[in-house]
Amino acid sequence: MRLKATTSALLIGILGGFAWSRLAVRDDQKPESTADESRTESPATLPASSEPKVQVAQLTRGGPGDEAAMQKIYGAFATGDFAGALSLADNAALDANRSAEFRQWLAQQMPSLLISAGWSKLRLGDCDQAIDWLRRASALVPAPAAVKGLAVCYYKQKQMSLAREQFLNYMSLEPNDSEMLLLYTDVLESEGRFVDAVGILKQLQILAENPAIGLDAASLARRLQSMQSREKESAMMQTEASRNFRLTFRSGDHEDLVAFVLQSLEDAADEFRENYNLPAPQSQIEVVMYPSASFQGVTGGGPTWAEGLYDGRIRIPVHPAPQKTERADLDVVLRHELVHALLAQLGDSRNLPPWFGEGIAQRLSCAGRGCGNFEFPPQPGGFLPPESFATSYLALSTVNAGRAYQQSLFLILTMEALKGDQVVRQIITALTTNSDVSSDGLLAPIGLDFTRLHMAAAELWKRRQSPIAR
Ligand SMILES: [Zn+2]
Repeated sequence: MRLKATTSALLIGILGGFAWSRLAVRDDQKPESTADESRTESPATLPASSEPKVQVAQLTRGGPGDEAAMQKIYGAFATGDFAGALSLADNAALDANRSAEFRQWLAQQMPSLLISAGWSKLRLGDCDQAIDWLRRASALVPAPAAVKGLAVCYYKQKQMSLAREQFLNYMSLEPNDSEMLLLYTDVLESEGRFVDAVGILKQLQILAENPAIGLDAASLARRLQSMQSREKESAMMQTEASRNFRLTFRSGDHEDLVAFVLQSLEDAADEFRENYNLPAPQSQIEVVMYPSASFQGVTGGGPTWAEGLYDGRIRIPVHPAPQKTERADLDVVLRHELVHALLAQLGDSRNLPPWFGEGIAQRLSCAGRGCGNFEFPPQPGGFLPPESFATSYLALSTVNAGRAYQQSLFLILTMEALKGDQVVRQIITALTTNSDVSSDGLLAPIGLDFTRLHMAAAELWKRRQSPIAR
């Protein structure tokens, strides 16, 4: 990797929900604090208008077991065991001893049971099961909650044309759900429907005039601007796909890089799976290469030094001659952003502590790339306090943000020094869509907590002792 040890550093960070990376940054260049659009989180709430309910009824003409069956279903539902309630209901529906009156009651409760059980799975990241139940629900009644859940799940699974269908259904029922409208612009972008996405964002700007909707007009304006830039770019772009990636690039300009980029990503995905047990991409990961001059515009005014970002898509700027992007550098950037993409898949896009996400991304992107020796900065300063690593690096001062990226890698290296080479693999193996992603939660599988890790790293840092050298 092309790294000038004294004057440059591999500096990578999450700024406001975006994972930026930069390469070969001079020490006097400051990461600008950019108020960029933050990644749209998938909504995990039911539409306000449709809280599913199960109600008991007087079964006057019921048989002997009816009342007990009804109370059991109701009891499970009332305690929040929605999947259990649904399973009892499905069994009761097959029970020949249940009366016609019971069946009528059950039929009325079924949409609520299916929607609640579906959403409980959606929240746990199990969209396969959620889709199954929500599809059954929406076949019974056109409930917004069922349609919303389906739209969110297909979106999470990147089944974009199915998602678009459900988003359209949902918006015909709930036209002013701003959170869903924002998410829909992302679906449209994946489908290359930039004009439609711009239209929705303009519609959201009108909604934002009503303060009760709670939309931030400034961030919406930035989103609209970056989407308009992407729309302009898209006219000149084309797409090629490999097994796990879909690469969009400027026709004519970057065609020489296409095979290299796709191969680099495929190799990295194989390597990360093999060496660290990172998952294979669930669906094709979108990658977009922009001419560096357009990069800021399309990413909502990100810092000029950013060499890549992951915001649900991997976005990479490509520099023209004379500072032409070197393939070796590009390889590291791609590997770095791929780590973010795969960690997002593993953790259901929940925010990981920045020290962990950035530390792992740096550690894995340079694995086997000759950057195994930790280079202390010329004036490293002290080790940052524990709380600096837990919240977005955007909140830190410029100087501290720069240190935070490097010290994030230092924490990972310390972790390996304390607990062995396999720790990254062990932590990744334990990480699921449903696991505890706090710093302590992530470290629990290797018998460590963040206080101890931080103390050990701070001590090594004070002595200028690389954990690798131990
Ligand atoms: Zn990063």
